[in-house]
Amino acid sequence: MNIYMHGIHFWIFSFFIFVFGCCVGSFLNVCIWRLPRGESIIFPPSRCPNCAHLIRFYENIPIFSWIFLRGRCSACSGTISARYALVEFLTGFLYLMIWLKVLETGQSPLALIRYFVLTALAVSTFFIDIRHFIIPDATTYPAMLAGIIVSLFFPESFGFENTRQSFVFSFAGALASLIFMSLAVIGGRAIFKRDALGWGDVKYMGAVGACLGIPGAFFTLMLGSMSGSVYGLCLMGISRKGLKTVIPFGPFLALSSMVWIFYGEKLLAMYLKLFRR
Ligand SMILES: [Zn+2]
Repeated sequence: MNIYMHGIHFWIFSFFIFVFGCCVGSFLNVCIWRLPRGESIIFPPSRCPNCAHLIRFYENIPIFSWIFLRGRCSACSGTISARYALVEFLTGFLYLMIWLKVLETGQSPLALIRYFVLTALAVSTFFIDIRHFIIPDATTYPAMLAGIIVSLFFPESFGFENTRQSFVFSFAGALASLIFMSLAVIGGRAIFKRDALGWGDVKYMGAVGACLGIPGAFFTLMLGSMSGSVYGLCLMGISRKGLKTVIPFGPFLALSSMVWIFYGEKLLAMYLKLFRR
């Protein structure tokens, strides 16, 4: 029996994983604010965007600080967006749910590494792309690389016994996604004379392939395209821009890759069953 699943161990691990997720979310907030503005994520330390007040460490505790400061800067009383607390809570919550999912399905706890990497990428992509219409290289390349490196050192993370299998799974996932998506970008340009996809989407899918393999990437692309198209069509119906309506694809890919982690295998099996009559 798995020692993580029972008694005090379960609660301690679950608590720390939630807290860890909130801290990752706190770092993602820095990425979400700075990367689209071309600023470094390491230096300088965090400041209030209104008055440049230096955020002290006790004002930077995930979720709690935002609540205790009632969403205001301690120096200038300028509003601090609720998005900060939301991103922290959301990341903590997703990490906790993934941990429970991994326990429930009997996967190796090492699987958490690639899931956590991809979740961090999904959260930052969702919030950056929805607002700025970009997916920064500084988020996609590290995630892609992390997936491949994890496959080289921890085959158990991917449910394999030796590193050759896990490396092939991860590398093939990244390569196939990059090639397929690049062709889609180039083809889309040639046929429709406009960019429905960007290179950021290509690299996002490369990271999905590296962390989830070809099945996960295939699923993410299918669900992402379907949900994105439905949303786009609805938007076209409401707005008067018609075919000029522009929507970012990243948030749909981000949501879809999360759906794969939680329900993917089940949904893919159901989908494939449709063709086995
Ligand atoms: Zn301030």
